Amino acid sequence: MSKVKSSETVKVVVRCRPLNRKEAAGVTGTPGGRGGIVEMDVHRGQVVLRNPRALPGEPRKTFTFDSVYDASSRQRDLYDETVRPLIHSVLDGFNGTIFAYGQTGTGKTYTMQGAWLEPERRGVIPNAFEHVFSQISRSAVDRQYLVRASYLEIYREEIRDLLDPNVHTQPPHTLELRESPESGVYVRDLSSCVCKSVKEIEELMNLGNQVRSVGATDMNEHSSRSHTLFLITVECSQTGPDGRQHIRVGRLNLVDLAGSERQAKTGVHGERLKEAAKINLSLSALGNVISALADGRSGHVPYRDSKLTRLLQDSLGGNAKTVMVATLGPAPQHYEETLTTLRYANRAKNIKNQPRVNEDPKDALLREFQKEIARLRAQLSHREGRGKHREEEGEEGWDGEGDEEGEEEVEKERKLQKERLEEENKAIREDGSLLAVEKQRLLGEKEIMMGDLRKERDTTKQLTAKYKAMESKLLVGGRNIMDHTSEQQKTLETRRQEISEQSRREREILQQVMVQDEETLELRETFSSLQQEVEAKTKKLKKLYAKLQCVKAEIQDVNDEHVRSRQELEQTQNQLTRELKFKYLIIENFIPPEEKNKIMNRLTLDPEEEQWKFQLLTPSESQMKKRLASAVGYKRPISQYARVALAMGAHSRYRAENILFLELDMSPPTTVSLDHWPAEVRPNCSPSPTDNAPYRERATRVRKSRSWCQAPRAITSSSSTVSLATHSTATPSTAQ
Ligand code: ADP
Ligand code: MG
Repeated sequence: MSKVKSSETVKVVVRCRPLNRKEAAGVTGTPGGRGGIVEMDVHRGQVVLRNPRALPGEPRKTFTFDSVYDASSRQRDLYDETVRPLIHSVLDGFNGTIFAYGQTGTGKTYTMQGAWLEPERRGVIPNAFEHVFSQISRSAVDRQYLVRASYLEIYREEIRDLLDPNVHTQPPHTLELRESPESGVYVRDLSSCVCKSVKEIEELMNLGNQVRSVGATDMNEHSSRSHTLFLITVECSQTGPDGRQHIRVGRLNLVDLAGSERQAKTGVHGERLKEAAKINLSLSALGNVISALADGRSGHVPYRDSKLTRLLQDSLGGNAKTVMVATLGPAPQHYEETLTTLRYANRAKNIKNQPRVNEDPKDALLREFQKEIARLRAQLSHREGRGKHREEEGEEGWDGEGDEEGEEEVEKERKLQKERLEEENKAIREDGSLLAVEKQRLLGEKEIMMGDLRKERDTTKQLTAKYKAMESKLLVGGRNIMDHTSEQQKTLETRRQEISEQSRREREILQQVMVQDEETLELRETFSSLQQEVEAKTKKLKKLYAKLQCVKAEIQDVNDEHVRSRQELEQTQNQLTRELKFKYLIIENFIPPEEKNKIMNRLTLDPEEEQWKFQLLTPSESQMKKRLASAVGYKRPISQYARVALAMGAHSRYRAENILFLELDMSPPTTVSLDHWPAEVRPNCSPSPTDNAPYRERATRVRKSRSWCQAPRAITSSSSTVSLATHSTATPSTAQ
C-alpha cells in the first residue's frame, strides 16, 4: 500500500566553485577578466553567463534556478537549504536522490563528500549521515528504525560493489541490474550493512572510498573515474491509527557522478581515454533521458541506454524526490562546458516525479528483524521458565527490558542446581550402604545431568548474545544515540531551517514578481497621444527584436553544441571501431574457426541486461540423457536388454550388466603342407581343392561372438575353416 502524492518537479540548484590558482593566473592575464565568466544573483536564484568571445552588444545568458550558490557559499548553506528537507522526506518514507552533475573538476565530489575532517567543509554525504541519526534519536519513542547502507560504483559500464571485500579480484566481480514492480530497479546481490551509528556508516563509506576508481587528469588531480552511488535505506515501524504496526521505507541515493570531459582538455590516453569514452557515453545517455523527460512529448525515455540512467530511473521521472546540484567552473576557457551544464540543469527543472510514501513493502528487513527478535525472546523466556523449574506459574516471561536482571537470576538458579547436583554426587560417593555398581550408575546419571545443565547454559548464552546483537541494530526513537545532541543544538538547527525556508520563499516570490512584471507592464500603459503610442510600441518592438536575436543566438548555440557533441560521439565511435577491427583481426587469424564457432554458439543475448553472456557448459536437465532407472532390487541401473537376458536365465556374474560373453576359439592350430616334402613323407590324404591356400585362411582366434545369454553350443570345427593339419583328424567330408 502506498499513498500517492501529487507530482513535483526535480529541484535544481547550481553551484559555482572559486577560481583555482592555475585559472586565477590565466584570468587576471585576460583583458577585462574580472575573476570568471559566471555571475550569480543569490537572492533571485539567477546565473548570468558571459561569453568571453562575445561580440560587442551580444546579450549575456541568464538562467533561473531553485537556488544558486556562488564561490563564497559554504557547505552548510547548501545542505540546510536544499538537502535538509529531502532527508526529512526520506525519514518519512519517501525515496530521495541527490546527484551532482557537471564538468570534471568543478566540485561534484567536493559538494557530495567535501573534506571529512574539517567540520566546515564536510559535504552533503557526511552531513546527511549525522542528520539521519540525530533525527532518529529525536523522534517519538514508539518508533523503531533500521538503517542500512550500500555503496557501489559504475566503472566502464560495470557495476561493482564497493563494500565487497573481493571487489578487486581478477576478473572483477560485477553485479547485474534487475527490475521489480515492488522496488523498481535494483542491483542484484548488492551487499548492504546495518548501521547503528554515524561512526559505523562513516567507516563503511571510508571502506568504499578506498577502493573507488580515481585517477589524475590535467583538469583534476583526483578525478573520479566512476559514478558512485551511496544508498541509505531507512525503515521505520510505528503503530498506526488502526493499532497495527506499519513500516515505511525511505531510500536515499547519494550520487557522485564522474565528470564529463573533453579528451583534448583532460589530456588522457590509453586506459584513461577508454574510461573517458564510457563516462561520456553514460553522461550523454543521462542528458538524453533528461531531454526526453523535460520535453514531455516523446513517449520513449532511453533509460536502457546506460547503467547509470537505469539506476536513476526512479529518480528521474519516477517515485522519488530529486535534487540535482549542477556544478560550474568560472574559468573563461570552459565557457562551452559551463553553458552545456547550465542548459542541462535548465532542462531538468521541467522533469516531473511522482514521489509517494513506501508503506508496508513486502521486502522490509525491519519486519524480519522484529519477527526474529520476538522468536528469540520467546525461546529465552521458555528457557528461563524451565530454569526456574516452572515453580511460579503465570510469571512474566523473559523480556528484553529487564534482561540483565533476568539473566542474573537464571545464572543464580543454574549455580544452585549445579551445587545441588555436586552435593548429591558427594552424598552418593560417601554412602557406604550402596553397592559399587549402584553407586556407579547413580554417579553416571548425575554426570549426564551436569552435562545437560552445561549444554543448556551454553545454548542460552548463545541465544542471549544473538538476541542482544539483533536488538542493538534496531534504533528506537527518543534514545540519545548522538553524544552531542543537546537541546541547544536542536534549537539552532530549527532556527537555521526556518531561515533557509524563509529565504527560499523570498526567492520564489521574487522570481514570480519578475515574471508578472513583464506580463503586466503592457496592461498598465495608457497613451495620451498617437505619437506616444508609436514611441512605446517602437520601444517594445526593439525589445522583442532583441529577444528574438537572443532566441536566434540560442538556436545557433544549441546547433553548435549538437554538432560538437555529435563530432565527439563520432570520435568515440571511430576509436571503438578501430579497437573492434583490431580484435577482429586477432580472432580471424589466431583463433581456429571451429573454436570460434563453439564460442559463438555458446553466446546468448540477455535482453534484461542488454549483454552477451555465455551459456553454462553443463547441459540443462532437459538436454541431459536420462539415466537408466535401477530395477527394483538391483544396485545399478539396468538396461532392457540385460533384463531380458536375465529373464532367460544366464550367467550370474554378468547379471544386470551389458557385457558380451566372448568365447575363445578352441579349434586346433592350422598348418600348411609343404610341396617340397618328399612324396613318401607326404601324409596319406588328398587335400580338397580349397585347401591349397599357402596360409591359414581367415583364421580368427575368436570364432564367434555370442552373448552370455545364448545357450552354449558344442564347439565343432567351423564350416568356414578347414583344417589342413597333417595330424588333423578332420576328414575331407567335414570340410565340405
Ligand atoms: P569533480 O568531482 O567535479 O571532478 P572535485 O570535487 O574533485 O571535482 O573538485 C576539484 C577541486 O576543486 C578540489 O581540489 C576541490 O577542493 C576544489 N573545489 C571544488 N569546489 C569547491 C568549492 N566550492 N570551494 C572550494 N574548493 C572547491
Ligand atoms: Mg569527482
